[in-house]
Amino acid sequence: MAKILPITIAPNKILREKSKDINPEDLNKAEMKELLLDMEKTMLQEDGLGLAAPQIGKNINIFVVNNKGKTLYIINPKITKRSWAKVVDQEGCLSIPNTFGDVLRHKKININYIDEKGKKQKITASNLLARIIQHEYDHINGVLFTDKAENIIVKTD
Ligand SMILES: [Zn+2]
Repeated sequence: MAKILPITIAPNKILREKSKDINPEDLNKAEMKELLLDMEKTMLQEDGLGLAAPQIGKNINIFVVNNKGKTLYIINPKITKRSWAKVVDQEGCLSIPNTFGDVLRHKKININYIDEKGKKQKITASNLLARIIQHEYDHINGVLFTDKAENIIVKTD
């Protein structure tokens, strides 16, 4: 059974390190399959649109994305192309609670990665999916949305 993992909260230096690729052969290991399912469950439970491994304390190049109710497992990703066009929208982050800000992102990106089965994938993402992927890609590179955001607001209950 998948479990909910504790979220790493800023400022924590794990969130500032550059993560490393995993060995694709490790995807055959039970603990790696379990980690992917735990990350998915944690993302869904916390109502996140994405969750990157540093956010659960691991500096490895893995993130999960909620793509309209379907989870994408993105492993060892490389953004290969970024559109000239950019768009601004408000973002938040599970590692920076109650904080929101406007972030300028590329409207469209191409990304290469391997999926949970170790299969090579190449996708073009635009709009919201492109935004989520760029946010998570920043996480595995030690970058937080607040580094780029404007009009940052903190909402308290
Ligand atoms: Zn985040």
